[in-house]
Amino acid sequence: MENNIKRIGVFTSGGDAQGMNAAVRSVVRTTLDRGAEAYAIYEGYQGMVDGGRNMRPMGWNEVGGILQQGGTIIGSARCAEFRERPGRLRAVANLLTSGIDKLVCIGGDGSLTGAYKLYEEWPGLVEELLQTGVISQEMADAHPSLAVAGIIGSIDNDMYGSDMTTGADTALHRIVEAVDAITSTAASHQRSFVIEVMGRRCGYLALMSALATGADWVLIPEAPPNLDDWEAKMCDVLARGRENGRRDSIVIVAEGAQDRYGSPITSQYVKEVLEERLGEDARITVLGHVQRGGAPSAFDRNLATQLGVRAVEELLADEPGTEPFVMGIQGNKITRTPLATCLQQTQAVAEAVHAGQYERAMELRGRSFRKSFRTLRTLVRALPHDPTPGQRRARIAVLNAGGPAPGMNTAVRAAVRLGTDKGHIMMGINRGFRGLIRGEIKELNWMDVAGLAPRGGSELGTNRTAPEGGEWYAIARNLEEHQVEGILMIGGWTGYKAVYEMHRLRENYPAFQIPMICLPATINNNLLGSELSVGADTALNSIVDAVDKIKQSAVASRRTFVVEVMGHYCGYLALMSALATGAERVYIHEEGVTLKDLVEDVNQLITGFKRGKRVGLMIRNEHANDIYSTDFMRALFEEEGGDLFDVRQAILGHMQQGGNPTPYDRILATRLASDCVEYLEEQILNGRAESAYIGLVGGEFRLTAVEDLPRLMDSERARPKSQWWMDLRPIARTLAQPAPRSRLETHETE
Ligand code: ADP
Repeated sequence: MENNIKRIGVFTSGGDAQGMNAAVRSVVRTTLDRGAEAYAIYEGYQGMVDGGRNMRPMGWNEVGGILQQGGTIIGSARCAEFRERPGRLRAVANLLTSGIDKLVCIGGDGSLTGAYKLYEEWPGLVEELLQTGVISQEMADAHPSLAVAGIIGSIDNDMYGSDMTTGADTALHRIVEAVDAITSTAASHQRSFVIEVMGRRCGYLALMSALATGADWVLIPEAPPNLDDWEAKMCDVLARGRENGRRDSIVIVAEGAQDRYGSPITSQYVKEVLEERLGEDARITVLGHVQRGGAPSAFDRNLATQLGVRAVEELLADEPGTEPFVMGIQGNKITRTPLATCLQQTQAVAEAVHAGQYERAMELRGRSFRKSFRTLRTLVRALPHDPTPGQRRARIAVLNAGGPAPGMNTAVRAAVRLGTDKGHIMMGINRGFRGLIRGEIKELNWMDVAGLAPRGGSELGTNRTAPEGGEWYAIARNLEEHQVEGILMIGGWTGYKAVYEMHRLRENYPAFQIPMICLPATINNNLLGSELSVGADTALNSIVDAVDKIKQSAVASRRTFVVEVMGHYCGYLALMSALATGAERVYIHEEGVTLKDLVEDVNQLITGFKRGKRVGLMIRNEHANDIYSTDFMRALFEEEGGDLFDVRQAILGHMQQGGNPTPYDRILATRLASDCVEYLEEQILNGRAESAYIGLVGGEFRLTAVEDLPRLMDSERARPKSQWWMDLRPIARTLAQPAPRSRLETHETE
């Protein structure tokens, strides 16, 4: 080995989690792209202890085509030998033989604990190997310390250091699909179901899936029921739910659920309680390994990809001897946290739960976890709290506007229930601003919104036409007639503009002098004041599913596909789907398309196919360029591709707006709706009339004043002037480029 070439070893360890392959691909390709060498260590620590063929150099193409695969192509294992020093000594000997002193460890807290131990013991183990003559002085001198970057691969989302762990989002997908399916059969037989989800120490999956599916009760380790006879409380709520017209009862139990004395609450026990006390048929479904299976979600692919890139960049930039660290995500920012801190904080939650300090455990889980739990406890109620006598009851109207976005219904349901529970009068406006002009406003009560959480589309109806001229007058009249005191607009650009206009016109129309808040809901993700809008994650996953299938079909016949996706003038869906599917090229309006680009792209395709490539994939935003249309590109590539490959186009169309919302969109919708109701309540009760756009900024909810719209939006193109995801373009480009020539020659035959 040349001394100046750095080597990075990557391995996956412990329980597998979706997205591990995306992380491996990204680590390997980034390493190669930066001129370093990438080694895969197969079968986790077992491969490190056994050495030999378990440690192999990886070429660019060896990690091709794995983004959409679940599991991990380099294998994972649990390894008892590595827990003991002699095992770790062998691991160090093997690492040194392969010249590896930088590791990317992809695994849960067990695996990362092991990696930390290895880092701590490294100098001592190297010394021992030197003393026993296993390695030379020269080798010992060349590798004085071990560098470790951690990527948390865990479906449980149970670790400090990242808002989300790789795999948790996909696991939620699997749970939510299953619970939706069970809900429909449960409803037809009026049955109760107990669904057990993974999470021995962490209730994240149980809590979030309950929030996303509209389940009726949830049991998690961190927040045991605080009554001795919690069984009676649960059965009472379920029974009253039935009386009020609910057709099914779904109880979600985390694997590690317990009562407040630390005794386990098993799904079997819950089933028996339901049968005995409610006298009805109850069934158990233990979801088990289904939660680890299937194709990774778009979020997990893109998260793992970004973490892999940054892990390698940091490892290559660090001075020798730097403390191990974990790459994580906070909001949309990739973060680096010392591994020791992550392990300590994670341990602290476990200890708090163990010691029965549940308040502390919930606190350590973070604000949004606690708040979600509180929100859930309101949403599962059979009926709302009665208004307190003499309470000031606000009259709040909810409407959708813009194109349909999956998650709109979820937000409406949460807003109506949370508002009603606070004693307010909630009203729904049909068909967006069209309905408001015509006075289609009606009161919505608790059961009117039952079953809405999982449903795509917009039950209230939505509309893209913005009000104008005399229509403002009609709107003002209807608001007055229904004594509307606050408006929650859940929708996209049409709604954002309309609320801005109403705010601007408030001097002319006293009825507009009320607080209004906009909850971002559009698949385009093109709104100011929020890094993400409700619906975008669902659309992204629909695109990614479709492209996975298209790619599979293309492999069979040496084909290139030009796939056109929605987004209006915003390239978010195009770029993120390209990142998640490994598309070699993405065309977006923000960047424009030139003839020179197209010529280069044709040449790159030709080179690629000559070198054995079997499928080409170009993703194009619908408005990337009006002249160089999808059909134009198809024809150009087809003509130039000659006999090497043929070209097809796929315009994905309205499937992108449909479908049931993903867990992420449902959770985001619910949490945002909760904050919106609080905002309106606060404004109304204090006699104020400010209006705002709410959104996700840096992992938290923030408000942006309505007046800021012209400053922040490119109104002509209907997209924010600054878009955070544009920074991800180089990653998409680098990782999807054809194998660099030299690497091909090293590790592959053409
Ligand atoms: P996860 O990484 O998913 O939490 P495990 O807890 O099973 O999974 O850990 C995976 C592997 O990491 C173990 O089989 C073992 O080889 C190693 N490991 C775990 N804990 C330690 C530890 N305290 N010391 C050394 N190695 C450990």
